[in-house]
Amino acid sequence: MAKKTEPIPGTSDIFPDEAAEWQFLEHTAHEIFQRYGYGELRTPSMERTAVFEKGIGGETDVVQKEMYTFEDRGGRSLTLRPEGTAGVMRALVNAGIAQGDEKRVFYIGPMFRGERPAAGRKRQFHQIGVECVGTIAPEIDVETIEMLLRYLDTIGLGDSKLKVNSRGTIADRPHIQETLTAYFRDHLADMCEDCQRRIDTNVWRILDCKNEACGAIVLGSPPITDLLDAESGDFFKRVCERLDLLELDYTVDPRLVRGLDYYEHTVFEVSFDGIGAQNALVGGGRYSIQVPGSNKPVLGTGFAMGIERLILARQELGISTSQQEGLDAYLVSIGEEALAANLQLARSLRDCGLRVGMDLQARGTKAQMRTANKVNATVAIIRGEDELARNIVNCKNLAASEQHEIAVDELPDKLNEILGKA
Ligand code: AMP
Repeated sequence: MAKKTEPIPGTSDIFPDEAAEWQFLEHTAHEIFQRYGYGELRTPSMERTAVFEKGIGGETDVVQKEMYTFEDRGGRSLTLRPEGTAGVMRALVNAGIAQGDEKRVFYIGPMFRGERPAAGRKRQFHQIGVECVGTIAPEIDVETIEMLLRYLDTIGLGDSKLKVNSRGTIADRPHIQETLTAYFRDHLADMCEDCQRRIDTNVWRILDCKNEACGAIVLGSPPITDLLDAESGDFFKRVCERLDLLELDYTVDPRLVRGLDYYEHTVFEVSFDGIGAQNALVGGGRYSIQVPGSNKPVLGTGFAMGIERLILARQELGISTSQQEGLDAYLVSIGEEALAANLQLARSLRDCGLRVGMDLQARGTKAQMRTANKVNATVAIIRGEDELARNIVNCKNLAASEQHEIAVDELPDKLNEILGKA
């Protein structure tokens, strides 16, 4: 049993020394996505359950097995969001801006799925995602992929592998489904129980079954790219041509369907070798999503990437951002008067942008010096009665063990010199 003080399985605390990496990944997303006209949208972490059932599709693993769904005190069925797109569409439809004009938004935040925790698979994980809705063109899919690859390149993951495919449109579905169903029916006896059910409920799901035996059978199934009608085939051809035009690296995986039912036309996935079995960094594609209370589906293109997996990949390459550790200065006060004066000094040094700590408990000098070392301060600034009277401080460079007297007025400039910030 988990110890009482540990976070629940599949969730994690993120401590300050790890936070710098998260901030870097998030900040870079803001910076790059804004270059393409995307603005940040923050939606609630929970929605009415129907938003996901209708949006993601009732036969998906996410909706069938993984959602954290509960009844609130008013008897409403609510769900912690397992992904970002359905809630974003709900918000855009609600604001009356999902149809007609193009709208570009991105989101960053926690998602919740009741999966078996493993390396790279969590119950609370975090996604960075984008959605471009309102208009349809193969070029939008291409631009979205180009932006994604730019992001991955900027964070040092340019060597990831991009796979693309098309699932065709709703019009393609019946005959693709028929062909797939006929093929899989011949192999039904060798497939897992879930797939034996999926053949009647949603045959597409068989294509991304994780079971080994099913995987081998899937490899022999008819490629979806051969089953598309002329219009869908042209759309996908155009996507590939434009990807080539921009010299983007990709392979066509004709059996890639992705786990969510809302995809139409283009689907894509980016994976990274070396982070274990859960190696999909990013999933995305073009979609048509139903929102409760609206008859018209929302059309768009988007992707979502798991921050935890981006971090694992960067760790594997040894390129993680580490926290700028320690303080610039630690103020040591000898006596009550010095403590009061140092409260003011700390305030004015922080006004200058310096990272400052001080002892607030009037402990002995030795204990304060020990803390200065422990918190990794560059300098200790020591003041007692004598220093106060002379309006100076004793500034001890802790690494070099040198000590200088510095006039209080000159302290910010001198500190910046010592810290190499001048
Ligand atoms: P999906 O929403 O299933 O298309 O997943 C998109 C991306 O989110 C994946 O490629 C992963 O990077 C990440 N992801 C999905 N599920 C999990 C999970 N349980 N734990 C960690 N990351 C996840």
